[in-house]
Amino acid sequence: MKKIKFSMDTLGCKVNLSESDFIVKELQKRGMEHVPYCEDPDFCIINTCTVTSQSDRKARQMIRRIKSQNKNSKIIVTGCFVVFNKGFLEENGIDYVIKNSSKYKIPDLIGKIAVKEKRRRAVIEERSNKDEPDLCECSSLAGQIHSRPLVKIQDGCEQNCSYCIVPKVRGKYASVPYSEVLDKIKDLQKKGFEEVVLTGIHIGKYGTDFKKNNRDVGAKSGKLADLFEKIIRDSSIKRIRISSIEVGEIDKSLLDVIKGNNGRFARHLHIPLQSGSDRVLESMGRPYTAEYYLKKIKMIGRIFPGIALATDVMVGFPGESEEDFSKTVEMIKKIAFSKIHTFKFSRREHTPAYWMGHQIDEDLKSKRSSIIRNIGDELRSDYLRHNIGKVLNVVCEDMETDSNMANGTSDNYIKVYFQIYKKDFPLMRGRIVKIAIDSGYRDGLKGTLSLKS
Ligand code: SF4
Repeated sequence: MKKIKFSMDTLGCKVNLSESDFIVKELQKRGMEHVPYCEDPDFCIINTCTVTSQSDRKARQMIRRIKSQNKNSKIIVTGCFVVFNKGFLEENGIDYVIKNSSKYKIPDLIGKIAVKEKRRRAVIEERSNKDEPDLCECSSLAGQIHSRPLVKIQDGCEQNCSYCIVPKVRGKYASVPYSEVLDKIKDLQKKGFEEVVLTGIHIGKYGTDFKKNNRDVGAKSGKLADLFEKIIRDSSIKRIRISSIEVGEIDKSLLDVIKGNNGRFARHLHIPLQSGSDRVLESMGRPYTAEYYLKKIKMIGRIFPGIALATDVMVGFPGESEEDFSKTVEMIKKIAFSKIHTFKFSRREHTPAYWMGHQIDEDLKSKRSSIIRNIGDELRSDYLRHNIGKVLNVVCEDMETDSNMANGTSDNYIKVYFQIYKKDFPLMRGRIVKIAIDSGYRDGLKGTLSLKS
């Protein structure tokens, strides 16, 4: 009997990606086949995002495209977009709309209707004499394996920054129990992966909900540092990376664990700044000042010299004056960030900032955004240059089809290119190799496999 086929398309953050991974793996365990949406799946699952108005636009486009190309498929839409877009989903005749908190039930839902669906597909197949499917621009390829798999440790945010819709669509803090995190890491380790990326919506709050809910965390306390210590102790995963952490949630104990474990933590932290103006930070509802941020960065630099520091900067927040913007520019020039992600403020309904006066004109937002991007590019080039001549530990991730060039990500989050034999790639994928860096190349660096590998 022909296998039930499903497609999975994902927009948005690493948490969404890790949740999609979970759904894909569960369905594969049940014997179903993961295919691109252009291959006529029985079920098309779309995991959406709503963080900016552009994310909403992408979600609408993706839903319409997949729906119109898959008239015989059941369409399942989940993710953050569904919370405030019920009308759109109804109008477009979506078969199942699943809220974030019920995402993990999608495999059961599909399991229940799969038998009926199999019969339905059999009838359709008998009736139609289809041509080969046309090639389409699928956003995610079936069977795609992440060479640095994501491990979700936490969901939800209660910080309520005034511009952010996430707390309304992701709900309260919800940490994944330690035993589940450890099982997942051990499983990945067995499969040969050497780096995992711990991800969540607000991971610095890991465990705070355990105390409230009196759940068994399996750690002395709910702190993130304890989680790290236990992962280091109970698993032998070679490298752990964290996706993003708030500046106020980095303390000495956390840095000590990161530093004290001989390369088992990636030398890389992503710490959102958003603005260098205290006035704007306060209006954003960010719980720190520019001075506090700077002090913390200096402390990190003292404890952990050479660590790669990346950040997010938002421009064009309501009321951001030239003086506020200059403060942001001054601030980022003081810190040798390895990468800056620049965002233009996006006005989201259901957030306080939507109603704020002095909204900034789109042209001015674009101008400010390009100024920050240019500074970010210069800092990035300096950081890359600084790594030439060094030996970096790189996870081997990808192989080009038309050459012997492979690439991967270093512990300090640089894309590194290197040559290997094609036949070696399947064995090397997901493994950490040492690369002696000799030059800049494309969006990163290039080097050769070091003899020490
Ligand atoms: S910390 Fe602020 S920006 Fe981040 S998800 Fe929570 S509310 Fe949004």
